Amino acid sequence: MAIAVTSLSKIAVLILLLQKPRHGYELMKDMREKFGYKVSAGQIYPFLSGLVRAKLVIVSKKGQRDKKVYTLTSAGSTFANKALHSFEELIELAIAKKLRQCAHCGCKVFGNSYSEKINGKKLHFCCGSCANAFKTIKRGI
Ligand SMILES: [Zn+2]
Repeated sequence: MAIAVTSLSKIAVLILLLQKPRHGYELMKDMREKFGYKVSAGQIYPFLSGLVRAKLVIVSKKGQRDKKVYTLTSAGSTFANKALHSFEELIELAIAKKLRQCAHCGCKVFGNSYSEKINGKKLHFCCGSCANAFKTIKRGI
């Protein structure tokens, strides 16, 4: 089994198939509507055929027009979840430098954190409530 998930649009196909079985046209439509990817049949079908050959997806025919419906097999779901997981790790790496930890609750904050100068030290919080709770505890000690 050598299916390479080499692009975001392939990840998007796997995400859609994890949600529910879809036929080819529906996949292309949802790719466009949900993710903003304009993919052509020439891009999507070779990937789907590869998944079918690798027994990660099965094809069944449904409806009057015999539309091919693509469904992930259990091995396919495992594969899709793994691909998704490595993608998540990549995203985490990409944003790790931009994450700050709330000095009170420890949650990670992306983007603008709430910061306050406490005892001459600039501290970052996820929100004002955490900053207040932090100060209350400090005062209590
Ligand atoms: Zn917090």
